[in-house]
Amino acid sequence: MARSKRYTYHKGFFADNALDFSKRSSFIKEILLERVNPSKIILPCKQHYGFSAIPVVKAGDQVKVGQCVALPPKGKFSLAVHSGISGTVTEISNIRLPNGIECPAITIVNDMKMQRVPSMIHRENMDLTSNDVLGIISNAGICGMGGEGIPTAAKLDRARRYAVDQLLVNCLQSEPYATSDLMVMSEYPGYVVMGAAACARACGTSKVVFLISEQRKMILEALENAINNAAEDFGEIKFDIKLFKERFPQGYYRLVAKALFGTTLGPDDTLEESCKAVLFNCSTMCACWEAISDNIPCMNRIVTVTGDIATGHNIIVPIGTPVSEVLAAGGKIDDTAGPLIWGSALTGIKITDPENTPIIKLTNAITVIRKQEQPRTPCIHCGLCAQNCPMGLSPHIIYEMLKQGMPKKAEEEGARNCISCGICSYICPAGIRLTQRIASFASEGRIIGENSLLHNTHFKYNIEEIGDLSLLESYNVDTADSSDDDPDAVILPFEGGKKV
Ligand code: SF4
Ligand code: SF4
Repeated sequence: MARSKRYTYHKGFFADNALDFSKRSSFIKEILLERVNPSKIILPCKQHYGFSAIPVVKAGDQVKVGQCVALPPKGKFSLAVHSGISGTVTEISNIRLPNGIECPAITIVNDMKMQRVPSMIHRENMDLTSNDVLGIISNAGICGMGGEGIPTAAKLDRARRYAVDQLLVNCLQSEPYATSDLMVMSEYPGYVVMGAAACARACGTSKVVFLISEQRKMILEALENAINNAAEDFGEIKFDIKLFKERFPQGYYRLVAKALFGTTLGPDDTLEESCKAVLFNCSTMCACWEAISDNIPCMNRIVTVTGDIATGHNIIVPIGTPVSEVLAAGGKIDDTAGPLIWGSALTGIKITDPENTPIIKLTNAITVIRKQEQPRTPCIHCGLCAQNCPMGLSPHIIYEMLKQGMPKKAEEEGARNCISCGICSYICPAGIRLTQRIASFASEGRIIGENSLLHNTHFKYNIEEIGDLSLLESYNVDTADSSDDDPDAVILPFEGGKKV
């Protein structure tokens, strides 16, 4: 398929020229390592955008792989949590995650038996309604795995209500060093394509568009093959691929709107309403197809272990695995290593307690940053931050305004448009922590505060907004407990809890 046009936003950051990619370039060719089998997992009940789930197990309970251990509170916007190992629940206590979220966390000690719930089997009857698909995805606890954290079923439901005419799949993963999404595209292109097609059908559109970097030739080939294979099951879906220039933060929805549709979205605008499109991360689409096809809930993810670590790699990790066990599974940290980052190099969060910090559904990478002397001088007015800000802001000016207690002026200067990409802090030769201050201000009034993986999300989804066809209305602890013959069966939140 000949594609001459290359899409991009303007300004921004050509990451390839700015960061050391010596380790990254080889990632995509590396064999995906086996799954980590941790000694224990720590499962936070709030890994998503919305309310915390409520534990439905207690200390001493035995659990199996795939078992639901926490359910959304009745009538609340939330998501279930599942165990990716079998073993014994030893503790339920409160945890504070690096992104500031505080919630109950369920600790499960691994019995190394990998006993699975019986409901995780291939679904024979694929004659599913739109509500069936949304229900399966909701019950599988799937949220935007690119870092967004919005429950995927709710986003699909909103796309359906806005009658979007295309579903976009973000396969760009532009942040330096992180390659987990690229690995998903390389290893499971069929799952991504089938998941995207099923989701498109569920939200009533017949067009799926994959966004990939022009430099990912190997992925392009795998994607084209997967699209051909999907034609038999999804004949009515029209697939397309759009090539994007390699730069960071390519793939962020407001920049995609600009690049693809020429539309400038404000911080309160949505892609669904303004562009009649909905955007999902490729790892999310892969998880959706696992749930639809094989009844597998969101309990594992691929994590990139990267930076100053001897053997950087991608690895399959049960959600809840402590960061220390992820690092131990594949790498020796170099002598030059500095801070440990929960997430990717520019947008991740520094952590100090890897033994007690778990991988959550949104953690795409663990990055070991090189130890280096940070310059600390006043602004030298080089203008680099403004030249590279993808949102066209003047970070040095906004920073000064906020520092001097002038939030109104900062707002007039566009501070609320900050997408917390981290470029200005990274690029500043004076070592001024611009992002931290500006992003914190931009996220005020949103669901989570500073340093949140969810900082760009306004609280736009709620139970009233979802309306009569609530994804969560009948999704509650009582319903699940009353499932007598198979407590782990996936129960749809529609039609009185029909089993699928
Ligand atoms: S963190 Fe905000 S202000 Fe800084 S470059 Fe990114 S969008 Fe611009
Ligand atoms: S990059 Fe740093 S030193 Fe340069 S103008 Fe911006 S704040 Fe000032």
